[in-house]
Amino acid sequence: MADRETIVVVGASLAGGRAAETLRADGFDGRIVLIGAETDRPYERPPLSKDVLRSDANDEKVFLRPATYYDEQVIELRLGVRATRLDLANRIVEVDSGPPERFDKLLIATGAKVRPLRVPGADLPGVFYLRTLGDARAIRAASEHARRILVVGAGFIGAEVAASSRMRGLDVTVLEMLPVPLQRGLGDAVGRIYGEIHRERGVDLRLGEGIAAFRGHGRLEQVITASGATIDCDVAVVGVGVQPEIDWLVGSGLTLDNGVVVDELARKNVPDVFAAGDVANWWHPTLGHRLRVEHYENAQNQGVAAAKSILGNAEPYAPVPFFWSDQYDLTLQYVGHATGEDEVVFRGDVATRKFLAFYLRHGRLVAALGINRFRDVSAARRLIRDGVPVTEEQLSDEQVDLRRLAGR
Ligand SMILES: Cc1cc2nc3c(=O)[nH]c(=O)nc-3n(C[C@H](O)[C@H](O)[C@H](O)COP(=O)(O)OP(=O)(O)OC[C@H]3O[C@@H](n4cnc5c(N)ncnc54)[C@H](O)[C@@H]3O)c2cc1C
Repeated sequence: MADRETIVVVGASLAGGRAAETLRADGFDGRIVLIGAETDRPYERPPLSKDVLRSDANDEKVFLRPATYYDEQVIELRLGVRATRLDLANRIVEVDSGPPERFDKLLIATGAKVRPLRVPGADLPGVFYLRTLGDARAIRAASEHARRILVVGAGFIGAEVAASSRMRGLDVTVLEMLPVPLQRGLGDAVGRIYGEIHRERGVDLRLGEGIAAFRGHGRLEQVITASGATIDCDVAVVGVGVQPEIDWLVGSGLTLDNGVVVDELARKNVPDVFAAGDVANWWHPTLGHRLRVEHYENAQNQGVAAAKSILGNAEPYAPVPFFWSDQYDLTLQYVGHATGEDEVVFRGDVATRKFLAFYLRHGRLVAALGINRFRDVSAARRLIRDGVPVTEEQLSDEQVDLRRLAGR
């Protein structure tokens, strides 16, 4: 076994899991070792803030593959094992339990970890973060007998937790430092609409408001806001963002800058080291800048692309980024990559929450968002990918068929 070529994948989640599957499916017959800090086999995180939070009927549906799959494919799963150091010179990954792993090729897929909130009382029982299946189960169990939940942060995780909690009948308060919810992801105009959606559904949404402390006698009972208000709550969920999981790579000699810096073939500047998923800050050849994406489709597709690159079969990875978010009965889909400065044009009926928002720069579509408008979002994706010139009039007019504009 010792002299068989070995590919070590660190991070046994979506990017790492899909990469390991692809290595085998594409004919690699050496050792594949998948090292993961969590004790669960690879699973998908999107259901955690949605179905899993609302019901325990869905826990088994999150896994990428049946438990038997990894043995069948001879993929060595080392779960509950954390990589602690990378020794590049000797090609060794050191771990916190069991023997170190020597590699011929290494894929870094350690994703992202939650940003901690450093305020008094943040370690009280009843205060949660949401990143893992274990977190989702713990929040669900704690919410079982709760009446009031407080959510810190109105980004995607916070907004989805708020929606799922309202759907379970809980009283929900959301604190958000920024003046608009989901502002970083969606911009002001659409963020404000989401603010209305949550308020219409009974969320007490407090904008421009931070948190000063969690309080309670042995368990969470109250939150004190930055402006001095006191809010009673039984459970709190903190969703104030994530950061790339690169601690174990510090001092390894790899270039680290808001993640692991890689090129469009998921390669590092040193041979035989690759990165994919939430941890990768990669060069996007058509956007012409680096990008670190914290969304499902990228982790999945970049994991596959990195595996192909490891095997020498890669094409440059240059997708039109995509993500979705489910809140209440609304599915939001977003394609492209906008900045705060882009012009926004609407199509459809904002009042009935079935609309599109287009983000334009110099007469080209750079991003588009649809609420319950699935086919139009796919057409917008093609318009962005192909750089088709478009006008505001065309985009705002329901009579103009986006699929025809996109050349289909
Ligand atoms: C609650 C929630 C809901 C989401 N909903 C959506 C959604 O609706 N739409 C969407 O597009 N995206 C969504 N996402 C984002 C999406 O799930 C992530 O982009 C995706 O999980 C990233 O996959 P990854 O494999 O790159 O990293 P991760 O999923 O972060 O996995 C990294 C893995 O590496 C492990 N690890 C870290 N350090 C080490 C180490 N040193 N040694 C060994 N293992 C290590 C971690 O424990 C983890 O299991 C959601 C995320 C969360 C948390």
